[in-house]
Amino acid sequence: MKHNGRFGDFGGFYVPEVLIPALEEIEDAFYRFKSDPQFVAELDGLSARYAGRPTPLYFAQRFSEHVGFKVYVKREDLLHGGAHKVNNTLGQGLLAKHMGKTKLIAETGAGQHGLATAMIGALFGMETKIFMGTVDTERQSVNVHKMKLCGAEVIPVVGGTGTLKDAINDALRYWTAHVTDTFYLFGSVCGPHPYPTVVKHFQSPIGTEARAQCLEEVGRLPDMVVACVGGGSNAIGIFSGFVEDKDVKLIGVEAGGEGVRTGKHCATLEIGKVGVFHGSKSYLLQSEEGQIYETHSVSAGLDYPAVGPEHCLLKDTGRVEYVTADDEDVLDAFEIFTKSEGILPALESAHALAYLISQKGKLPAETIAVINLSGRGDKDVGIVEEYRPVQ
Ligand SMILES: *Cc1c(COP(=O)(O)O)cnc(C)c1O
Repeated sequence: MKHNGRFGDFGGFYVPEVLIPALEEIEDAFYRFKSDPQFVAELDGLSARYAGRPTPLYFAQRFSEHVGFKVYVKREDLLHGGAHKVNNTLGQGLLAKHMGKTKLIAETGAGQHGLATAMIGALFGMETKIFMGTVDTERQSVNVHKMKLCGAEVIPVVGGTGTLKDAINDALRYWTAHVTDTFYLFGSVCGPHPYPTVVKHFQSPIGTEARAQCLEEVGRLPDMVVACVGGGSNAIGIFSGFVEDKDVKLIGVEAGGEGVRTGKHCATLEIGKVGVFHGSKSYLLQSEEGQIYETHSVSAGLDYPAVGPEHCLLKDTGRVEYVTADDEDVLDAFEIFTKSEGILPALESAHALAYLISQKGKLPAETIAVINLSGRGDKDVGIVEEYRPVQ
């Protein structure tokens, strides 16, 4: 490959030999099309008219009063599909189309990425297969139904624990046998090179827009930018706009501590150890023997035992501070934000809100924080009701 896909010592492409030409083909196409005027115009047009970009930067006045400093919200929850995921599926889907591929495959855990891929499969008229663990197909049956309505085939993955990591294994296995006509549309800034770079590129409008909006509407850069981290794509997307601005503090919030349901740890960057998983070197939740742990948090979208390689480097260099929020604080943040703004945040995004609440009373009133609201919380109403029944 032309680039080694390394972020420090992290990243790379640890994949079977048969997949190297397929990854090279994507790398080639990505560097060719990303600045091709026709491709850029087509993507910009669809981002605007299909997905709904640019998204607003909204001043959350009542939530700001609650925490005691100024909070501006990047409204990725307003995009088509209800989250930032469409930025990536639209970009990679268009890349696949320009490469002459006719079929899409993708992995999904909670079903959000699967659904965002199924939408784009319908948009471009491409045959789409979504690999999903059987445990997940059961707990996320509404998303399974929506994917099928979009015309996608949902392939239940029986092996292992029946969750996301097994779905990725099967999707990669399927891909090795179908590389000629099939594009593997990866869901986050993880996996083998070139995915961490490709996904970052397609999520970077979040940061570019947020920086320009902040300068124009607020009159200066923010003091801090906060985002939740699962695989790390929405966080990399918004951080990319501010990473060169050394005075802007960047904070990534992982699902942390003891999961309410299972007591299992999720804080990959806090307690993870370096290893190779799904084709990439990164911090991982694994035992001394290298056994990958099953993760669990109230927000299924943050349930992934690894984290993107660039985040691992940003942690090691200290440019980004990574913290955790546990389930109880996340549920509190969901309630507080919804009550003060009338906006239901995704439980993933509520991790970032929980961090802001933890800073209540600790920061000067003129502090400006930008938070990436990665998605809307309508999908999570059932889970919230389970833990915090409305009286
Ligand atoms: C999938 C998802 C996430 C986690 O994925 P990242 O790659 O870490 O962004 C966060 N928020 C929402 C709303 C999601 O759907």
